This record gives sequence, C-alpha cells and structure tokens, in this order.
Amino acid sequence: MSYVIMDEYDVVVIGAGHAGCEAALAAARMGKRTALFSITLESVAMMACNPSIGGTGKGHLVREIDALGGEMGLNIDKTFIQSRMLNTAKGPAVHSLRAQADKEHYHREMKKVIERQKGLDLKQGEVTDLIVEQDENGRNVVCGVVLKTKSAYKAKAVIIATGTFLKGKIFIGESSFESGPNGLAPSNELGDNLKKYGIELRRFKTGTPARALAHSLDFSKMIEQKGDPEIVPFSFMNDKLEKDQISCWLTYTNENTHKIIRDNYHRSGLFTGEIEGVGPRYCPSIETKIERFADKERHQSFIEPEGLDTEEMYIQGLSTSLPEDVQYDFYRTIPGLENLEIARPAYAIEYDCIDPLTIKLSLEHRNVDNLFCAGQFNGSSGYEEAAAQGLMAGINAVHKIDGKEPFVLDRSEAYIGVLIDDLVTKGTDEPYRIMTSRAEYRLILRQDNADLRLTEKGYEIGLVSEERYNKFLEKKKAAEDELERLARTFVTPIQANELLESLGTSPIEGRTSLEELMKRPEINYNSISPIDDTRPELSSHVITQVEVQIKYEGYIRKQLAQVERFKKLENRKLEADFDYNVVDGLRIEAKQKLTALKPLSLGQASRISGVSPADINVLLIYLEKQKRLR
Ligand SMILES: Cc1cc2nc3c(=O)[nH]c(=O)nc-3n(C[C@H](O)[C@H](O)[C@H](O)COP(=O)(O)OP(=O)(O)OC[C@H]3O[C@@H](n4cnc5c(N)ncnc54)[C@H](O)[C@@H]3O)c2cc1C
Repeated sequence: MSYVIMDEYDVVVIGAGHAGCEAALAAARMGKRTALFSITLESVAMMACNPSIGGTGKGHLVREIDALGGEMGLNIDKTFIQSRMLNTAKGPAVHSLRAQADKEHYHREMKKVIERQKGLDLKQGEVTDLIVEQDENGRNVVCGVVLKTKSAYKAKAVIIATGTFLKGKIFIGESSFESGPNGLAPSNELGDNLKKYGIELRRFKTGTPARALAHSLDFSKMIEQKGDPEIVPFSFMNDKLEKDQISCWLTYTNENTHKIIRDNYHRSGLFTGEIEGVGPRYCPSIETKIERFADKERHQSFIEPEGLDTEEMYIQGLSTSLPEDVQYDFYRTIPGLENLEIARPAYAIEYDCIDPLTIKLSLEHRNVDNLFCAGQFNGSSGYEEAAAQGLMAGINAVHKIDGKEPFVLDRSEAYIGVLIDDLVTKGTDEPYRIMTSRAEYRLILRQDNADLRLTEKGYEIGLVSEERYNKFLEKKKAAEDELERLARTFVTPIQANELLESLGTSPIEGRTSLEELMKRPEINYNSISPIDDTRPELSSHVITQVEVQIKYEGYIRKQLAQVERFKKLENRKLEADFDYNVVDGLRIEAKQKLTALKPLSLGQASRISGVSPADINVLLIYLEKQKRLR
C-alpha cells in the first residue's frame, strides 16, 4: 500500500462527531499536537437525530464533561433555543437538564471552537486505513492513518470515533442504499481494513423520524410546551442565562395511525428481516412500539423545532423505516399533522461498530496498542454518551503517550464511570444509552455536584483551565460558607412563625437554626429569605448545592457508606498479566472470562458476566495468601 507521509502528530482523531470533537479538544488542551479528520466538515458536531442535548442521565453526562473541562456544556449554553429541568417532582438524583438546540448553530459554534483551538488542526478527509507496525513482542501498535487521497499522517496515538458512518446503510421501506446519516458519504474502506488488525466489527442500527415543514403543521391542534421561566445553565462556567425561548408541541398517535402501520409491517425492513443490525431497546421505532405495546391506545410525540432559521420540525418518538408513502399516510392521521409536508423522510441506518468487551477501561483497544475508541463506534447511542467517551479517550491517549497511568473514573465517582464500565466490563448487545437507573450511587452522582466530584481531577490532569478552577473553588467555598452560616443562624418563634404558617408548616417553639428549618419539605432556600436578612448574593449553582446537601444529608451519608464498601473491592487492584489459571477453585468459565478481559480490580472482576461471587471469594483468598507469602 503506497502513501505519502504528509505530517506527524501526537494524536490523530478519526471523526469529528460528538466523540471526536471532545477527544481532539482534550488532547490539544493537554498540550498534544492533534489532527481531527472528518469525511466532510459539514458533519462537525452534527446532530443527526433529536435536536436536543441532555435529558434523564444524559444531562448528568453533559455536566460531568463540563466539570472535566470538556466543551459540550458550553456549546449548548450558546446554542439552545429552549431549556427545561426534567423530573423536578422527583428527588435531585434524577433532576435532569434538557435543552433544545439550534442544530445548525450548534455545529457552527463547535466548529469555530475546534478551528480556533491551539495545537489542533481540523481537516476534511476520509481515513481509509491505519498504519500499524509490530513492536518487539509482536504486538500491533498503531502509528498513523492513511486517507482516501493516499496522503498519510503519522501519530503516536489514534482515536476512532466514526459514529454511524462505518459501512453505513440506509433503509426506507423496500429501498436500501449505502450512505451515512443525512445523505452524507459513508465510510466503507476503513470498515474493511480494520479487520486486518484483529478488530472485530458487528452491525448495530438506529432510526430517526421524518422532519416536517412547520408551515404544513397546525399547532392549534397540539399542546404547547414552553421552556422553563428560569433557565439553568449546563455549564458551571455560566451563572445565569437569559434568552427568548421557542416552544415544542405535544400530540399523539391514534388507532388510525396504528392500523396503517400494522397493515404495512411487511414493507418495513425491520419486519422483512432485511435490517440485520440490532437497534436500541430504549429508542424503538414506532412500528416496534405498536407491536411491543399493542394494548396502548396512543403514543405521544413532541414536535420539536430544529432551529431558528429553518422550517424543519423533528417528529419525536416516531422514527420508522417504513416507505415514504406509508410515512405520509400514518403521520397525516396525527392531530396537527393532517397536511404535513415531509422535508426529510424517516429512515433506519445500519452501521459497523465494535464489541466494547474488546477495549479496556482506558478505551484502548485490546489488540492494537495506542488505538483508542469512542462514541457510537463503541456500541453506545446518543450525543452525550459519545462526547463523554471522546473526552476520556482523548485524555487517555495523552496519558498513554506520556507513559502515565490510565485516567479511569469508577462507578461511585461519575456517570462517565458507569457508562464506560458497563460497556467494557458487562458489554452490550444493543446500542447502549445511559439512564439514572444504571447508577447504583445516583444520589451522590447528581448533575448539580458534578464539579465537586470531578473538576479537581480535571485540573490535576491539566485539562481544566485556571479560570474554571478558580470559579470552582469560589463556588465550593461559597457553598461551604453558606452551609455553615445557615447552621449557626437562628430565628425565634416571633421571627419565624408567621412565615412558617403561610408556608403551611408547623410553628417552632424555640430558637431554631435556618438549616434545621430547611430540612422541612415545605421549605426551600428562597422561601425563608423573608426571615434571613444576612444572606449573601449566591448563584443558582450554589443555592442548589446548599439545598440538596441540607435536605438529603441523611440519605447522602448512607450512600457514602455504601460507596466505602464498594471501594474496598474496587481498590483491590489486579495486575494486567495476572495468570488466573494458577488459582485453584476458580471455575473454568471464570478463568476464561478473567483472562480475556484482564480486569484492573476485584471490583471490575465481580461485574464480569460469568464470574460469580464465589469466584471472587476464591480470588480474594488466593490474593490474601500471596500477600502473606511475600
Ligand atoms: C439515523 C440516526 C438516528 C439516531 N437516533 C438516535 C436516538 O434515537 N437516540 C440517541 O441518543 N442517538 C441517536 N442517534 C445517535 C447519535 O447521532 C449518535 O449517537 C452520535 O451522533 C454519536 O456520536 P459520534 O461522535 O460517535 O458519531 P457521529 O456523530 O456519527 O460522528 C461521526 C463522525 O465521523 C466522521 N467519519 C466517519 N468515518 C470517517 C472516516 N473514515 N474518516 C474521517 N471521518 C470519518 C463523520 O464524518 C462524522 O463527523 C442517531 C443517529 C442517527 C444517524
């Protein structure tokens, strides 16, 4: 294979999607000379599906990316057109920020940040192959990439973040053709060449609904959903955001819709079996929903604007691979969509991705050294999941080049830790999306304290800027000072009881601290301001911190005790080259799985499917014995 070496970088990133952008920015911001390739620059941070960032579990990831010095939170704060805090009727563990984005503006802003980042070169070009050499032990080591143009770039580390483009194939009814999302070119050659280096690939699929032209819709037949009056920023760098927001619209399918879809199952690639790829259980197509929930009379759909300068409206919840004529027939049975005109038809896309059991907690591939993997390519689904992995792959590519320990977050430290551990330790048979129910310690992994959990770590690895770090220290101190002030500020019954009565809570009998009052469910920080005349001016971020820490103190303490127990096994490290075959009493299946996955700790070993608690006990006893022999 002949090619011309054009240049040498520390890090080369393949794919400028949500994963690739975070990976490239992280590597460049940590001082590495980095190149970011994309088949077309029009797909930089392209939102190929829903026009929103955040939501349950995903909002937590965005906050964690921001706390570590990533870009997604800042980018959505610049480009959102509506913002809502979800699940506010429930506890703070599941409060989740979700913002509608102006897709075009989101792309432009991220591209601008990438283009202006020192040490980072954004380049249009399709990577068709890797440059891989053998080291002295015969192990594969990646040393660069080759483009379709036969130009090549050397690199000390390469990150693959090819998303839904790798061997992309679109399905619309009986028609199917090779393509990336939105009619963009797929990435076929790289998909073929990766197998040469022992990188196994498999087929996943996902789907998206049609985009309708706003002027063809009747919003008077839908339920308007406005944004929150008070906007909570995604980024901890922003204290306050003000913006005129635009609305989304709620409507529902009905029996007519369902009948048309049932009558045409035979024309959907999903039911004819033409689509082989496995789709996301938590984001099913409408034909799957109707089949799976046959008793449901209606399915909701939010009609979401794709941006301020476009007529395109996203028909949420109604993705399909049925043919266009059927799409018109069933969409037009929905209130408000009777005269809909489709700007972009719905489709399903199949693409190649890896089995994440073949990568390490650092996101490095097990068969090719210095090759890191991120995003949809790892079997996940979602902009936020992709961005989180991209950030970690960027950090770990830098650590590998610098000979430093991998940067790994465990399940008690971050949703990012849950995401990556689920992927690389437990694996996934379908596109994986994050959910709060996946996190055992979700009360301490809240979106409001992501900076308290992670910004210090981001600063230590050199990714968090001085400006962000100082702002974080200020916030931390302000919250600590305020907690202390509320604990030592007392009110008397005369001072407080009139207000307490108006708030529908019982009067106090003696001097009571404001902290004590705030523990009451009817009372929050703002409601006691009339009897608290020494309070300082605080940002919404600090107030949320103070409220949650006071109201959930007991639960948080209990969860921290659980984390202590979790850490016991998690901190019991295992050598990567540990020989499990010498451990008597360990079952064969466990030996095979442990040898294949090389867990970094007893905790990770205990989460591998096929390794039983009894196996962990046997291992623990063996390790204790070894320790005593030393
Ligand atoms: C049809 C569709 C439906 C979806 N539905 C959902 C959903 O319902 N819920 C959800 O959460 N997410 C959904 N998504 C997924 C969401 O878009 C992705 O999760 C997210 O974009 C993944 O980000 P990524 O960075 O991994 O890849 P992408 O955003 O896909 O970006 C990949 C980038 O790699 C580049 N690239 C690929 N190959 C090469 C190459 N060889 N050389 C150079 N550049 C290359 C591309 O140009 C692109 O810039 C959907 C996506 C699509 C396309």
